[in-house]
Amino acid sequence: MEIKVNALMLKGVDYKDNDKMLTLYTLESGLMGACIRGVKKANAKLKFASEPFCFGEYVLSVNADRATVISATEIESFYNLRLNILSYYCATAISEFLLKYGAEGGDEPLFMLAINTIKRLNFEQNDQKRLLVEFIFSALNLLGYGIKCNGCSKCHLPAHLSEYSYFDFGSGELLCEECAEAGATRILSATADGLQSLLLGDDISAETLNYLLKFFNYYLELKIGEPLNTIKEILPL
Ligand SMILES: [Zn+2]
Repeated sequence: MEIKVNALMLKGVDYKDNDKMLTLYTLESGLMGACIRGVKKANAKLKFASEPFCFGEYVLSVNADRATVISATEIESFYNLRLNILSYYCATAISEFLLKYGAEGGDEPLFMLAINTIKRLNFEQNDQKRLLVEFIFSALNLLGYGIKCNGCSKCHLPAHLSEYSYFDFGSGELLCEECAEAGATRILSATADGLQSLLLGDDISAETLNYLLKFFNYYLELKIGEPLNTIKEILPL
């Protein structure tokens, strides 16, 4: 059977002499593995389709348990990502996010969020950490791990009015010092401020963006079991 999918190429692993095993994130079916033949030969026609961040329409031949790329057409080239290290790493973090937390089965909102964020990383080449933080914040929501940060979730006052803020990693709620119960974790007020600014679309300093990246990585590790390794590379940039 032949199928056509819109896909972002996440990962290619060498296979046999000239082939690769690709992991694609597709609009129609979420994560999919597919073999692509002969792409390590010089002048291979489909080489572009085996490159990271290739966004294209892939035609796959699907048998019982495996898919092979027959042809591909590039929809958009994200070539500029290679010209800016921070853009490249932030796009890599999104790719890692999809590889680790994406699932089989189409998820159009997550697919569109990823494509639109990578598009902006490719073209704008500034505010990259902000774009990544916004991606993670929205993607967590789509995956059912949304963070409630419109002030303290109990008394609804801004959580940063008190000296410290708290976060309940179980329920994903921001809490003020008054309302925090045993089990809530004390977090930097800058992080609490950053979460609220993110929700409101306010400015966030470079230092706070790093706090947010660390915070989200800890949250991802607790909720889904694995952090994003790329974030370690992004923090010092
Ligand atoms: Zn409160």
